[in-house]
Amino acid sequence: MKKVAGPPSEKARSEFLGLVDHWSKRLRVKPKGIHIRPMSRKWASCSTAGRLTFANSLVRKAPAFREYVVVHELLHLRLPNHGKLFTSLLSVYVPRWQALSRNAMRKPADSSRPSTSPPSTALAEH
Ligand SMILES: [Zn+2]
Repeated sequence: MKKVAGPPSEKARSEFLGLVDHWSKRLRVKPKGIHIRPMSRKWASCSTAGRLTFANSLVRKAPAFREYVVVHELLHLRLPNHGKLFTSLLSVYVPRWQALSRNAMRKPADSSRPSTSPPSTALAEH
């Protein structure tokens, strides 16, 4: 049942664009253009001209994660870097952003993880 490859459906795309529109208004920014296309390494990017590009695969991610990436990119239209102001604004709009961005880095939970924690280490973690 799961679709893996290929571009997202029209419905998924328009839903996603609706999310971008919603947050553009909320953050009072105006992207010059919004594109959804295959991207191999990133979820999204923001050009200096104010054009945003989102990965096809992002459209299929969990809503909370999509929202984090959208807010992150839209905030770049106001602040180009990841400075203190950027992260504090992000915290206002997406309080869980740190957990969400950590999850993004992680491989899917069902993939086999090397079990490198002997009991002694586990105890020491506290
Ligand atoms: Zn960024």
